[in-house]
Amino acid sequence: MNLTPLERCPLCRGGRIALFRKGTLEPRALRADDFRITDRHYGSRWTLFSCRDCGFVFANPVPDAEAIERFYAALEDEEYSQEGEGRGRNFAAILKRLGRLAPPGSALLDVGAASGIFLNLARAAGFRVQGIEPSRSLVADAERLYGLRLFHGPAERFAPVEPFAAVTLLDVLEHVTDPHSFLAAVARFVAPGGTLVVVTPDIASLAARLMGGRWWHYRAAHVNFFHRRSLERLLADHGFAVVRRRRFAWNFSAYYLATRLLPFLKGTPLQRPLKALHLRLQLFDSWEVYARKAEK
Ligand SMILES: [Zn+2]
Repeated sequence: MNLTPLERCPLCRGGRIALFRKGTLEPRALRADDFRITDRHYGSRWTLFSCRDCGFVFANPVPDAEAIERFYAALEDEEYSQEGEGRGRNFAAILKRLGRLAPPGSALLDVGAASGIFLNLARAAGFRVQGIEPSRSLVADAERLYGLRLFHGPAERFAPVEPFAAVTLLDVLEHVTDPHSFLAAVARFVAPGGTLVVVTPDIASLAARLMGGRWWHYRAAHVNFFHRRSLERLLADHGFAVVRRRRFAWNFSAYYLATRLLPFLKGTPLQRPLKALHLRLQLFDSWEVYARKAEK
C-alpha cells in the first residue's frame, strides 16, 4: 500500500496542519476484514492530522485510494447484512425527514449502499431507488436479500441517465481519501434543487472528546473526520446549502452491542432474546445533515 505524506490540508489546502492523534494500526498488516462496517477493533486508526484553519481531521500520510478500493471490493460483511432490523429503525427516521424535502415518488440514489437495507426501506416508502456499492459481496447480498441491483464500483464510475432528487451518503464521507473529488462526483448525481443527506461522525462531539483514542469511530476504514464547520465548508464548495442538521443516534440490537463487547455470546442460547431487544445508543456523536443543491 502506498502512503503519501501531505503538506497541506486536503479540505481547504491550507498549510497550517499539525499532528492530532498518532496512529495505532500497521498499514502493511491490513486485510479486507478490517474494513467491515461491523469491525470491532475500535481505537485502531491511521495517524491523524488536523488543520488549524478549517478544523478538518485527516489521515496523514494518506493511504492510496486504489489500495482501499481493493479492500472494499474484497470485503464481506455477513454480520452487517443480518443486522437489518436495528439499522432499519435509523433509516426509517431518515426517510421520514427526507420525505419532507424530496417527496416519495422521487428518484433516490444511495451511495455506499452496503447490503441495501436503506434502499429496501426507501423503495417501500415509494422512492424510485438506485444504489452504488464498491463491495462485490455486499452487492450480491443486496440482490439476494432484497432483489436490488446495485451498481458495483466507485462513485466516480457511475453514469446515471438522469440526476436524482435525493442522494444519500450514510456513513460514507469518513471512508473516502479525497473528499473533494468524491463530492464533485456525487454533486453531479443531484438534480438542481435536489437534496443531499450526509451522516458522518463528529470529531468535535462530546463522546469523541471524552473517549479520546478509544472512540468507536476510530477504525481502519475511517480516514477522515469532520465537524460542523468543515462539513458545511465541503458542502458549500460543491454547491450545497445546509437546510437541516441534527445530532444522530444509532439504534442497534442488544445482541449487536453485546457481541461487540463479548464475542463468545455468538451462537449461544442468549442470542435470540438479545436480538429481540433494541436499544437506542444515545451518543449523538454523528451529524445528520440535509443540504439543498443550488438551482443553477
Ligand atoms: Zn483546512
